[in-house]
Amino acid sequence: QTLRREGFAGRVVLLSKELALPYDRTKLSKGYLAGKAKKESLPLREADFYAQQNIEYREGVRVAGVNLATQEIQLDNQLPLHYDQLLLAPGSTASRLPKLPGHILPGVWTLRTATDASRLLEGIGTRKEVVIIGSSFIGMEVASSLIGEDRAVTVIAQEKVPFQRVLGPEIGAMFQKMHEEKGVKFETEAEVTALLREDGRVGSVQLKTDKIIPADVVVLGVGVRPATDFLKDAFTLEKDGGLPVNAHLQAAPNVYAAGDIARFPLAATGQPARIEHWRLAQQHGGVAARNMLGQQQPYTAAPFFWTQQYGKSLRYAGHAEQWEAIIYHGDVAKQDFLAFYVQAGRIAAVAGMNRDADMIYITELLGKGCMPAAADLRVEMSWEAVV
Ligand SMILES: Cc1cc2nc3c(=O)[nH]c(=O)nc-3n(C[C@H](O)[C@H](O)[C@H](O)COP(=O)(O)OP(=O)(O)OC[C@H]3O[C@@H](n4cnc5c(N)ncnc54)[C@H](O)[C@@H]3O)c2cc1C
Repeated sequence: QTLRREGFAGRVVLLSKELALPYDRTKLSKGYLAGKAKKESLPLREADFYAQQNIEYREGVRVAGVNLATQEIQLDNQLPLHYDQLLLAPGSTASRLPKLPGHILPGVWTLRTATDASRLLEGIGTRKEVVIIGSSFIGMEVASSLIGEDRAVTVIAQEKVPFQRVLGPEIGAMFQKMHEEKGVKFETEAEVTALLREDGRVGSVQLKTDKIIPADVVVLGVGVRPATDFLKDAFTLEKDGGLPVNAHLQAAPNVYAAGDIARFPLAATGQPARIEHWRLAQQHGGVAARNMLGQQQPYTAAPFFWTQQYGKSLRYAGHAEQWEAIIYHGDVAKQDFLAFYVQAGRIAAVAGMNRDADMIYITELLGKGCMPAAADLRVEMSWEAVV
């Protein structure tokens, strides 16, 4: 879209191994799984759009490799394709806990694609005992979408409270309470040792304590890995599978990377980070497109994501894998707050609930590197005035 918007009139080819028009992945664990969003609402654009924009969209085509010397990409069962400029944005693959006994039993699911979501819904049917392994965003959103009067949902978490590593214990405890009030059960600080078979499919989950939890459906929400196996020969990948890029999102001459796979320098600190957020992937795409056209634009926006559970949204801007303190404005228990994550006296990230307007201003300030210092946040303030 950005290439066309910026006036590029040459050939644009968009390849995806999925058999679907590009769609809104974030709806899968929310409205789609809850039965509130129909399949027809998933595509980002109608098929006509690609024709009107003269974008060749080829679905069901897997890219098998890249030859940097000849500027060609290898495709499964098709002739190689030459590129003048290449954007790599293959996203992630859901982890499957390959060492866990029983992980391939029928009834055990991951959630990454629309096909995964449809199969999961079909697989659940009228089944009544859902166990979710993992208490981060996918696991918790799936729990909020699947809990119902005639269906039990148990979340198994390694952490003491959900989201502990990303949002901290107070916000995690608030989310856990929100889920418990809807009937979700939690097994926290727990380790799954096996998925046990019953009548040819998963029947229960065994914990290290030997506790057995009945389960006729298991959802693995245990993280993702960059889908970069096909790039191993062409690039030196990071240990986690990420592809290093510079501030212009360039990985090699005439090659850019965007979204989940790109390990890029954060504007705020210069530190490299790989961030799996929807809006960041979109922003990366726009920046990479402009740079393909010869502009020299660094990616400087503050990373941003949201999660939605039981109709309540939490918004998060910035990036803080660790923090020395969290400063709260408002009341976490009342789901009306801003939480400021402090790193070396600097606000590295902010999470907010019921503070959407403030979060817009704060995201702008973080992007410009103009957030007040932690010491200046002792009292609530007008963020509009600060901007
Ligand atoms: C269920 C779910 C809910 C989410 N909710 C949120 C949310 O609320 N907020 C948020 O910020 N983020 C959310 N995310 C994360 C967000 O969707 C991702 O960060 C974002 O989609 C990454 O975009 P991307 O372009 O890097 O990759 P993707 O969106 O994964 O797109 C990559 C595409 O490339 C295809 N592909 C991969 N390898 C190849 C290959 N070799 N050949 C051809 N095609 C290939 C893939 O099949 C896929 O279609 C969610 C993710 C999931 C799965």
